[in-house]
Amino acid sequence: VIMMGQAEHSVITTCAYCGVGCAFRAEMKGQEVVRMVPWKDGQANRGHSCVKGRFAWGYATHQERVLKPMIRKRISDPWREVCWDEAIAYAASEFKRLQAAYGRDSVGGITSSRCTNEETWLVQKLVRAAFNTNNVDTCARVCHSPTGYGLKQTLGESAGTQTFDSVMQADVVVVMGANPSSAHPVFASRLKKRLRQGARLIVIDPRRIELVSSPHIKADFHLQVRPGTNVALLSSLAHVIATEHLIDEAYVAQRCEKKAFDEWRAFVSLPENSPEAMEAVTGVPAAAVRGAARLYATAGNGAIYYGLGVTEHSQGSTTVMGIANLAMATGNIGREGVGVNPLRGQNNVQGSCDMGSFPHELPGYRHISDDTVRGEFERDWGVTLQPEPGLRIPNMFEAALGGSFKGLYCQGEDIVQSDPNTQHVAASLAALECLVVQDLFLNETAKYAHVFLPGSSFLEKDGTFTNAERRISRVRKVMEPKNGKADWEVTVALSNALGYPMNYRHPSEIMDEIARLTPTFAGVTYEKLDRLGSLQWPCNDEAPEGTPIMHIDEFVRGKGRFIITKYVPSDERSTRKYPLLLTTGRILSQYNVGAQTRRTPNVMWHGEDVLEVHPQDAEDRGIASGDWVGVQSRAGETVLRAVLTDRVQPGVVYTTFHFPESGANVVTTDNSDWATNCPEYKVTAVQLVRVSQP
Ligand code: SF4
Repeated sequence: VIMMGQAEHSVITTCAYCGVGCAFRAEMKGQEVVRMVPWKDGQANRGHSCVKGRFAWGYATHQERVLKPMIRKRISDPWREVCWDEAIAYAASEFKRLQAAYGRDSVGGITSSRCTNEETWLVQKLVRAAFNTNNVDTCARVCHSPTGYGLKQTLGESAGTQTFDSVMQADVVVVMGANPSSAHPVFASRLKKRLRQGARLIVIDPRRIELVSSPHIKADFHLQVRPGTNVALLSSLAHVIATEHLIDEAYVAQRCEKKAFDEWRAFVSLPENSPEAMEAVTGVPAAAVRGAARLYATAGNGAIYYGLGVTEHSQGSTTVMGIANLAMATGNIGREGVGVNPLRGQNNVQGSCDMGSFPHELPGYRHISDDTVRGEFERDWGVTLQPEPGLRIPNMFEAALGGSFKGLYCQGEDIVQSDPNTQHVAASLAALECLVVQDLFLNETAKYAHVFLPGSSFLEKDGTFTNAERRISRVRKVMEPKNGKADWEVTVALSNALGYPMNYRHPSEIMDEIARLTPTFAGVTYEKLDRLGSLQWPCNDEAPEGTPIMHIDEFVRGKGRFIITKYVPSDERSTRKYPLLLTTGRILSQYNVGAQTRRTPNVMWHGEDVLEVHPQDAEDRGIASGDWVGVQSRAGETVLRAVLTDRVQPGVVYTTFHFPESGANVVTTDNSDWATNCPEYKVTAVQLVRVSQP
């Protein structure tokens, strides 16, 4: 705590928006925030910030916040305010009743990437130990679950390889399916600095994002790939690298599995994977693919940064593995300036995955069927755990509709708005007998809830977030929880009421348990975080001050593993009925479904989602800029205002998803990644019809 001039005191904490994880100094007067000042010593942001972290924190005291627990027997009943004890007792009795009537696996929980590591740890522990099922999943399911899968398969660890600072050593940067200027602005400014110093740039994106051509920056190549064909494009890039002898043979021989590499090289060298053969699939001119491949393989340090335009596809995991293949083939993993770098969306999406929120993995990405690992948790937690993986979120929805899944504890996630195919999600939740929602606001998901537990904002929390660099940073309480209970205390109370005792006095004790049971966190303590500012995992005896760059001498899995990535067309492709492909993205001032930013002054900078349409497609349909347009898909229909632009190519339309009541997820389908069920948000076949008004 620092005493201030105008403000009375200040507290250093971490932004609760994106995966950059900027540190801020919250300047306070009593229990009120005066302003948020980006902290000059913040190791992820070094004094920089964007308009979200700087200005969009007022939602924490917004009048619509719900501060009292509420219950109701049926979702058609009015809410009844109750005390914490009654709400917790009611929720626990309902979960017990459901498990007695329908079986142990009839209930589950969803953790939140908005919450701290400590809160997430407790929710997955509650599900595994108190519910005694593995029906736990996280909202990372719908964003970066393919990153976890793809990087684990190829490199051995479900995380990015670098620090953000590493980009300052890059000679060529590939940005694929990401728009850092809007979604990760503080990283984008560092990247732009490096580009202005002369680093080369390859952008792979269906849309002409700002980086392609902005003041003082021009991409060397913009591979304007057709939505849904990333894998085909990566194969054609790999084809050039393999057939033009651009592979780093010494690196591959020393660092990678030979048989898998030989098979991969033979596969990508096939004529059908050449840029010329793939041009008809990807829409990208072969000459540009050849030029980009040569640049990436020969420019020196090559760094790849990617986002949800890579993962949210039916081949999202395949695409992640294709990226890892390229990086290994060119020797671009294991030192400064290179690497495979997922730009994580939410503040703690890395952490929510690290903390064991997946139904098949215990914390630290260890499979639930591993008897040795499970035994460690059983001894520490004093309970016998189930050895079989539980349900993923989409499976929970199916099971709810099928009648076997009856109760859900959902913390800090508005799944009705954020998950695809809204109607399907709503119908699934309506079929539950007990839905417990813990959130700041009565969101769309709460419309189907029987118990509402008020959540607390990041300003009221003690704990840690883990950013896209694996950097664990402290979140410090700047004001007391307005709802009277910290989120971790709510989970503890619920677990105790369920008959599985939890006993912590402070989140630091939860971190001590995390460190005790998770090898990559073994050396993490609050004392060390306070002393060093932050720590990048793995942090343990071998790396007591953390690990900025991973896979330096060898990959975490030993030898790197190439995986053949065969292109399989998505079911979502243009047809006569739905001839256009809709893809989505973000804008700088807003965040996800807008639950936070739309309750702050930032809403003035972006008042609605619009639909970008190429002038040629607009003319074919008699659409002018500003017209209302009906967007129809096989999942649903919505109405958006059209903006004509050549940022998108003919055949592709684009919208943001910050106003979901009007928008994207009404029309996105439940098509999903083959390996992880991450929804294919980025490709939806649609038709447009001009309408008179919404
Ligand atoms: Fe930093 Fe991201 Fe927060 Fe912006 S939203 S201040 S870039 S952490």
